[in-house]
This record gives sequence, structure tokens and C-alpha cells, in this order.
Amino acid sequence: MDQEQKQTRHVTLYFEDGDLELSARKAGSDDEGCLLFCVYRAQLRRVSPVFCDMLALGGDRKEVVEMPDSAEDLAALLESVFISSSFVLRLWDTDPSRSAVELSGLVRIARKYQVDDIANVVIRHISELWPKSLAEWDKTFPTWMENRKTTATSKLIPEPASAIRFANEFNVPSILPAAFYFLAVQSAENIETAEESPHCTAARWDLTEHTMLLQLIRGRDHMRSEFLRECQRDRCIVGFHGGLPATLAATRDKCNAARAEVLLTILRGGLGNPDQGHATINAYQDICCKREMTKRATNARSEMWEGLPGFFAISLTQ
Ligand SMILES: [Zn+2]
Repeated sequence: MDQEQKQTRHVTLYFEDGDLELSARKAGSDDEGCLLFCVYRAQLRRVSPVFCDMLALGGDRKEVVEMPDSAEDLAALLESVFISSSFVLRLWDTDPSRSAVELSGLVRIARKYQVDDIANVVIRHISELWPKSLAEWDKTFPTWMENRKTTATSKLIPEPASAIRFANEFNVPSILPAAFYFLAVQSAENIETAEESPHCTAARWDLTEHTMLLQLIRGRDHMRSEFLRECQRDRCIVGFHGGLPATLAATRDKCNAARAEVLLTILRGGLGNPDQGHATINAYQDICCKREMTKRATNARSEMWEGLPGFFAISLTQ
């Protein structure tokens, strides 16, 4: 192996006045060679307890330290430590649809060398893409739906399968309810092509794994049966006291049909659109408990949101 010829200096992370040379192999095939970095020993020791111990062991200070990590991951870590402006730009410039994939290598290597601040900044950045409450969901989802309209803006919508993997690997369970729900309402029709369906953005089904899919199926089934049960149980108040004249019975039937439809609307994506349930209610004329039904639709949405961790068997404790 002719290493001398294959070593190239990193364009921005080889500081001429640095006092620590590191080399790391580029990902992929062996013949892609190594990248050389030259950085500042003291600063690296200050931010990373692992580097601190490693470099304290001494050895020849002129020697190049061969790192076991990929050159790409190491470059991302060193960039975050030594060129903070590039690191910030990287966070901002990575499309939300790809950020959980593209930034996970950095979190992994930052955790490995205990550069905790960097790992935490990236985790927070990814976490903030996902709504944590129904109120946040209601603010965020209309923007996603707006962004879905063009290919250019659909990149701004966070992708759920990669987010779930990210959340599981780095223990960020607060992302999971919204991400699982969002994945559950994605169309699986175009799994192979990952093409955008009229109702959903393209999910990275290729990133789903066995456990995730089981959780997803379980969650979808739970949501469905819960709401179908509600449809059965939630009846028009007119029928509650018995002895109903024929005219009122007709009203009651109409009312019950409306109730069932409202709940089904919420089940099928009403969490995604707060106005959908209300629009359904308003489409029905002459129903006797419109006001109560509007309240019910609002409650059903909160129940759905609150129920997500249970439906998808998500443990929210870190
Ligand atoms: Zn009624």
C-alpha cells in the first residue's frame, strides 16, 4: 500500500501553523486514500476529554496520528471545532428532508470523542424540526403542506423515517410521536419509486427497519380501532332519553352519521388539518348537536395527539 502518494491535505482543515497532524481514510474503497488534517492540539484537548487522554499519552509530536474514523466524519468534527462558521452554515444549509441522515455521522463521532456541545447542538437542531405538542403541530403542519407543493420547497419538510432512526440512535424520544404519526399518514403506494403522492411527501421507506415497521403497523391499527370504537360510542344526545318521535329520530340518525364522519375525518388526517373536522361538521345542515360535535372534534384531536406514544409504543423517558 503506497500511502505516501494517496495522502491529500484537507482543503480547509490543514492549518499551516497547526501542531497536530491527523490522517483518516476516505469512506468507500481502499484506494481512495487518506485525508490529512493539521489542527491545534490544545484546542482539541480542551473540547474533547477523549482527545485529551489520547494526546496526553505523549509519543512523537511530529508523528501523524492515524484515526480509525472515516475522513468525512472526522472532517465534520474538526470543522465544528475549528471553523465554527462553516459548522453553523452546514446546519442551516442541510435540507430538513436530509438532515437526520446527513448530520448523524457528526453526532456519532462527536459522541465518541465526547465533544458533547457539538452533539447537543446538532441533536437540538434536528429535534426542533418536529412539533412537540398539538399546538406546535397545528402551526407547523400547514407550512409543510404548503411546502409540499413544489419540489424545491418539499426539501424543507423533515423526513420521518430517518428522524425515527436518529431519535432511536441518539435517544431523542420527543421527536417520535410526531415522526411516527407523520410516517403513518404517508402513502406507501410508491415505496419503490419514492415518488411524491398527491397527499404526502416522499418517505424514506428504504430507511425503515423491522422494529420500526412493527411499531408503525401497531400504531396505525391502534389509532384506527380506537377511533372506530369512538364512532360506535359517540351518539347523538337526542337519542339518550328514549321515547323519540319519528321526526326527531330522523334528525338523530342524520346527526349520528355526521358524528361518525367527523371522527373518521380526524382519523384519516384530521390531526394534520385542524379545520378539516370543522368543515365536515359545517357541511351538515340541520343537525341537532352541532356545537357539542364541534367540541367533540376538538377533543378527539387532542386525544389522538395524547394517544400517539401509546399507539406507537413509544417510551418518552430518555
Ligand atoms: Zn344530535
